[in-house]
Amino acid sequence: MDAELRTLVGWGRTAPSTARVVVPRTVQEVIDVLRSADERGVIARGLGRAYGDPAQNAGGLVIDMTGLDRIHSIDAEAATVDTAAGVSLDTLMRRLLPFGLWLPVLPGTRQVSVGGAIGADIHGKAHHVEGSFCDHVESMDLVTADGQIHTVTPDDDLFWATAGGMGLTGVVVRAKLKLNRVETAYFKVDTDQIDNLDDLMARQSVDDDKYLESVSWFDTTATGKHLGRGILTRANHATLDDLPKKLRANPLKFDAPQLLTIPNIFPPGMLNKLTARAFCELWYRKSPTRHGAIQNITMFLHPLDILGEWNRAYGPRGFLQYQYVIPFGREDAVKRSVQMMVDSGHVSLLNVLKRFGEGNRSPLSFPEPGWTLAVDLPVRRGLAELCAGLDELVLTAGGRLYLAKESRTTPEAIERMYPRIDEWRKVRADVDPTGIFVSDMARRLRLT
Ligand SMILES: Cc1cc2nc3c(=O)[nH]c(=O)nc-3n(C[C@H](O)[C@H](O)[C@H](O)COP(=O)(O)OP(=O)(O)OC[C@H]3O[C@@H](n4cnc5c(N)ncnc54)[C@H](O)[C@@H]3O)c2cc1C
Repeated sequence: MDAELRTLVGWGRTAPSTARVVVPRTVQEVIDVLRSADERGVIARGLGRAYGDPAQNAGGLVIDMTGLDRIHSIDAEAATVDTAAGVSLDTLMRRLLPFGLWLPVLPGTRQVSVGGAIGADIHGKAHHVEGSFCDHVESMDLVTADGQIHTVTPDDDLFWATAGGMGLTGVVVRAKLKLNRVETAYFKVDTDQIDNLDDLMARQSVDDDKYLESVSWFDTTATGKHLGRGILTRANHATLDDLPKKLRANPLKFDAPQLLTIPNIFPPGMLNKLTARAFCELWYRKSPTRHGAIQNITMFLHPLDILGEWNRAYGPRGFLQYQYVIPFGREDAVKRSVQMMVDSGHVSLLNVLKRFGEGNRSPLSFPEPGWTLAVDLPVRRGLAELCAGLDELVLTAGGRLYLAKESRTTPEAIERMYPRIDEWRKVRADVDPTGIFVSDMARRLRLT
């Protein structure tokens, strides 16, 4: 197969590296590519939405999986879909909704491939009810280093090593997913505007269980008694009866347009204290407390998908996302982390706080019971020091960072955050004894 030399980045655009990229169209072509890998190894890449470098492999091979784009079958009665791994969640939703079928786990963007969703074992706003993506995978076909196809299920250790294994156990080429049923493509949303972080977390803790989806946005510019003020939004799928008359005619409509693509023209420093304060004030004020509003997929789940390539707005230096989970009972550490961000002068607009439910069997899957917080921080002087301080806080509180969002921590920190990593390494070593699967992230964090 022809390989093209390409410079790749993650969504944060912080660490470009050049690799030979191939786009196989069949499983046999994936096997052929693996056989051609040299000592710089190979890694699968989906839609490049991980923020850092897990889907890059400097000087080696990268398998762009978007060529495996076939949905093999939809079983409406059993509520399952059998799909190639390069298919995006966006495409799946468009094909499934007419059958009243819904993917139980949806991240903050639909532009994620099935393989990438498995590789990071992604979570959504429904984690406290639905768990993470691999909790809904019935089986997957994994091509391992020896070119063999393994069909693995949740009974297999290899399944759980691949869930959240960041592409380092092999290439997922196909998966069978379990689905939920919905009457409509809309949500019935309760919004609460809350004046400070303590009250926001208290409110979110009280009756999250009544809602399928739950998430808070919080303000990183508010100080003093308004520290961490925010907007709590929680929702359930709207039933047909919930919809206003004009929406009832087409209740399963995929109502989620992309309106424009952001051009690559932004200078560094566009997002500063002044612009961030103005944005946060506006965002806070525009969402007063209101219960029972009907919102479409984009409004409630994926507002960012209205804009294509919005990461360009951060300018050429790029940005990183800092996402941690800190166990329940350490709310003091969550509050301290917000205070540290405010004091540092680093600003973020997309600030998310959510409560995770139980984790699963995977040694590297990120979610565990606790508070997960995510902020998008533009790269500028002093950011490394802030993040190092946050790492220490997260470690002391017994928390961890999310590999799909990670781009700058140390191997020592990851080793301490993921105490079952050796268990994962053992399963991986059994199927890839010579270590052909490797990525920039795997080298940087000494994962394998
Ligand atoms: C705006 C935005 C919002 C997001 N919101 C969330 C969120 O709410 N929750 C969440 O969990 N994540 C979220 N993410 C992160 C995203 O869901 C994950 O990074 C996901 O892995 C990206 O999938 P991808 O197809 O782009 O994979 P890539 O970024 O290309 O790759 C990610 C990892 O998956 C591996 N991989 C990809 N395809 C395969 C394959 N076929 N076989 C084996 N391994 C493979 C890669 O090797 C790599 O390690 C968000 C990202 C963005 C940009």
